[in-house]
Amino acid sequence: MSTQMQQLYQQVILDHSRSRIGNQALLRDDATGAHGFSHQVNPTCGDEIELETELLDDGTIAVRWTGDGCSISMASASVLSELATEASVADMLDIEAKFHELMHSRGTLEADEEILGDAAAFTGVSKFPARIKCALLSWVAFKDALNQAQTSLEE
Ligand code: ZN
Repeated sequence: MSTQMQQLYQQVILDHSRSRIGNQALLRDDATGAHGFSHQVNPTCGDEIELETELLDDGTIAVRWTGDGCSISMASASVLSELATEASVADMLDIEAKFHELMHSRGTLEADEEILGDAAAFTGVSKFPARIKCALLSWVAFKDALNQAQTSLEE
């Protein structure tokens, strides 16, 4: 990765850690669609996140989260929320799988920006084992909460 690319990616992470898309109070039982929650902690860094997913009538997923932690964990939750606003459930599962693969690549994979969007900015983070959990925390919460939302639909 070029230095210019690294700087660009670092800026994307910094911007998301400040803007924090989706960072808002959870609706919990006031949510009208099928919804699920997940609370995840990353004790090695001190990151904590509570994330809610709600399946909307148009086939997209609303994501809301509260939490606190390092800029990587907060930026990752923001990127996830942004991606979810335009994606179907199937799209998001595909994105989640690709992001997971990228984060375990130790910097060897080239991110597919067309699919990953701003999540591609975390490519460099995959070289630092101690930070991978920071980047994945909100995605673990998302998968767990989405699973609950889908299960509640089947009941
Ligand atoms: Zn962290």
